[in-house]
Amino acid sequence: MNENTNGRKVALVTGANKGIGYEIAAGLGALGWLVGVGARDEQRRADAVAALRDRGADAFGVPLDVSDDDSVAAAAALLTERHGRLDVLVNNAAVTGGMPQEPTGVDLAELRAVLETNVLGVIRVTNTFLPLLRRSAAPRIVNMSSAVGSLALQSDPDAFTGPTSAAYAPSKTLLNAVTVQYAKELRDTGILINLACPGYCDTDLNGHRGTRTPARGAAIAVELATLPDGGPTGRFFNEDGPLPW
Ligand code: NAP
Repeated sequence: MNENTNGRKVALVTGANKGIGYEIAAGLGALGWLVGVGARDEQRRADAVAALRDRGADAFGVPLDVSDDDSVAAAAALLTERHGRLDVLVNNAAVTGGMPQEPTGVDLAELRAVLETNVLGVIRVTNTFLPLLRRSAAPRIVNMSSAVGSLALQSDPDAFTGPTSAAYAPSKTLLNAVTVQYAKELRDTGILINLACPGYCDTDLNGHRGTRTPARGAAIAVELATLPDGGPTGRFFNEDGPLPW
């Protein structure tokens, strides 16, 4: 089909059927962008697309399980067919794995599953969509990280870093490390790739213990998705500025 975008940007948000990802999709939709709602469950995806469209966003569904090669390839084929390029990729989908997660008792299968989604999933999606991103005039990638991925904060006894976590927190540390390497490789390409920490938000991920709205958490991702040319790359931000590694 290759629908004419009329100069509008095309974005894809993974795990956009709920929580912060849904609000990132809403935020990008509010800019007048075409927003792909990446979600693995058909009903949840359809409901999110309908709700976003009710809010005025030009949203469309993208079947996407970030842990599955075939699903990611099919999603890229859909975007290729529909718009022929991608301007912004937000790697938002993540899981925490079962709790508790003390390192001395961690279930290795659980650890592998968390890494599969939170790290390998991001690499799988990013690499599969890179050809489409390279067709954009100003490609941006935002990886949703967390302050719990900061080793500096984790080793500071006075910092709030959540429960001891041998799977979720290290998955975000590894995501941070991998993102820096992407930025290094892509430095001269015009692709800006950064990490966003949304803060502690009220979502299913933490049993709704978070104290901020998902919309507030989404704001830093929208900011990094809309960076001007020459903006930062390979950096880690929350709404107040750079975070320590
Ligand atoms: P959430 O409400 O649990 O939503 C997670 C989303 O990821 C859901 O749409 C879920 O889809 C999707 N997902 C999980 N595995 C997937 C897979 N294999 N393929 C495709 N989608 C998958 O989480 P959230 O709180 O909005 O978190 C969003 C991002 O912010 C995550 O990267 C998280 O680590 C980060 N973060 C959150 C907080 C917080 O306080 N909430 C703090 C720091 C960082 P289903 O509905 O199908 O499960």
